[in-house]
Amino acid sequence: MKPPVSEKPAHFIRKIIADAVAGGNTRVATRFPPEPNGYLHIGHAKSICLNFSMAQEFGGACNLRFDDTNPEKESDEFINSIKADVEWLGFKWQEPVRFASDYFDQLYEWAVYLIKQGKAYVCHLSADETRVYRGTLTEPGKDSPYRNRSVEENLALFEQMRNGSLAEGTCVLRAKIDMASPNINLRDPAMYRIRHAHHHQTGDKWKMYPTYDYTHGQSDAIEQITHSICTLEFEDHRPLYDWFIDNLPVPSKPHQYEFARLNLNYTVMSKRKLKQLVDDKHVHGWDDPRMPTLSGLRRRGYTSSSIRQFCDMIGMTRSESIVDSGILEFAIRDDLDKHAPRAMCVLSPLKVILTNYDADKVEMISALNHPQNESMGKRDLPFTRELYIDKNDFREVAEKDFKRLVLGGEVRLRNAYIIRANEIVRNASGEIVELHCTYDPDTHGKNPADGRKVKGVIHWVSAKHCIDVEVRLYDRLFSVENPEADKDKTFLDFLNPQSLTVVHGCKAEPSLATAIAESRYQFEREGYFCADRFDSKPGKLVFNRTIGLRDTYGK
Ligand code: ATP
Ligand code: MG
Repeated sequence: MKPPVSEKPAHFIRKIIADAVAGGNTRVATRFPPEPNGYLHIGHAKSICLNFSMAQEFGGACNLRFDDTNPEKESDEFINSIKADVEWLGFKWQEPVRFASDYFDQLYEWAVYLIKQGKAYVCHLSADETRVYRGTLTEPGKDSPYRNRSVEENLALFEQMRNGSLAEGTCVLRAKIDMASPNINLRDPAMYRIRHAHHHQTGDKWKMYPTYDYTHGQSDAIEQITHSICTLEFEDHRPLYDWFIDNLPVPSKPHQYEFARLNLNYTVMSKRKLKQLVDDKHVHGWDDPRMPTLSGLRRRGYTSSSIRQFCDMIGMTRSESIVDSGILEFAIRDDLDKHAPRAMCVLSPLKVILTNYDADKVEMISALNHPQNESMGKRDLPFTRELYIDKNDFREVAEKDFKRLVLGGEVRLRNAYIIRANEIVRNASGEIVELHCTYDPDTHGKNPADGRKVKGVIHWVSAKHCIDVEVRLYDRLFSVENPEADKDKTFLDFLNPQSLTVVHGCKAEPSLATAIAESRYQFEREGYFCADRFDSKPGKLVFNRTIGLRDTYGK
């Protein structure tokens, strides 16, 4: 088989795999191994894109394997959300979905095998004692007093761990490697701990559960994974990964490769912290549009292609860094600028009455859905005597650089006529509630015949035809770049109190009445918006602001 030629920018993992393929190892198998203890975040997207695209590019397959060795923290809700998110991102795993728990019987047999080889033992040191015996980075550890138990005694105790006759915490099974190793991971690491916990896949069958370190490589070997790709924090675990593979009769010899995890500024990425935000109700759930979760980004209006694009843009290296979330924002803006139809929606409505326009007249004005792409079609905008414009587009007195409507001045209504503001109507408390304007009937689609210049263009809707919608404006969830940097505070101290603003009574053009969930628009002059997947219903539409029109942070 000829290796496929890659069009994508080179990165070291692609090179490792390409070299293996060129060297004759034509089979490429990868896996994405999430623990079902939370929802996936944008960091996971980097790993998903890498694992699935490497398999795709080199004609191999990628498995989805749930790393489910901590049943107390795991749930079906998390399993289902992870599957949905991987599919949404546009990837197909090789069926069936795998679970590390599928291999619990095999892992158990291999643990017995290691005991029989004198390479694993049951240890009764308490957790505190174990810590002391383990030593430190600078001092070697000490052998456990239980290290030289006989094979028979170990087998008998391991059987008691398995059948539930020992209480949690009584003892653990440890690999017998080297308590003096400079790598602490090799100082007789735990393989099994007693947990009388119900498991979402295996029910009450097991009273003990294998550790991540003992489970992961063997699961890779069973699935004949060729490239086991993970993040750099596992680099120091690789010698242990290899030790198990070398000391067990596994059906294949996978190899682990590490890359730098994704960190983004203005957010946190660990599932533990995201879970805290959800559990303590700082956000409205895992899929809150302010969350860096894939379901949150999706609900906010991010497209899966923009997230894949982002993952391509940030590259793949072995050095830790913090990526600017402006890159993610660039990716979605770029996508929506090309693909989102335009629409008009007035967020802060101010009534305009065109005193020289017939009260009963309705003119249908045809507008392109995308100014640069006629193939996206047109829609009709009703134009009437009473309109709404945005309060922020009007000033009583002209200010320097204000190009929109001022009293006595003119502005163009997008796709329609030029109007002039003649009179302000106020309520009892002095607020401006209405503008009386006149329109110039000879300016639809053309400049004034007398050559006068009108610079500003503002958006508008017909007061009679518009629909009321709710708009949710999002800002960054944290007000500092790195909410985890301050040693004296917690990340919660840096939550941005202005991360969500709900605006009711926005006035949208009538074509939006049929907006289906997740449809995306550019609301002209306001930004990109997406009909909320869950809360937007016909008759009660809710739009999430995905992102503003241009990068305004720090400006
Ligand atoms: P977290 O630290 O957020 O809890 P995790 O590493 O515990 O994440 P897992 O479910 O174990 O989450 O991760 C599944 C896969 O995704 C692993 O291979 C892991 O290396 C990878 N991954 C997790 N976080 C990131 C990240 N920020 N960037 C890139 N890959 C990641
Ligand atoms: Mg993990």
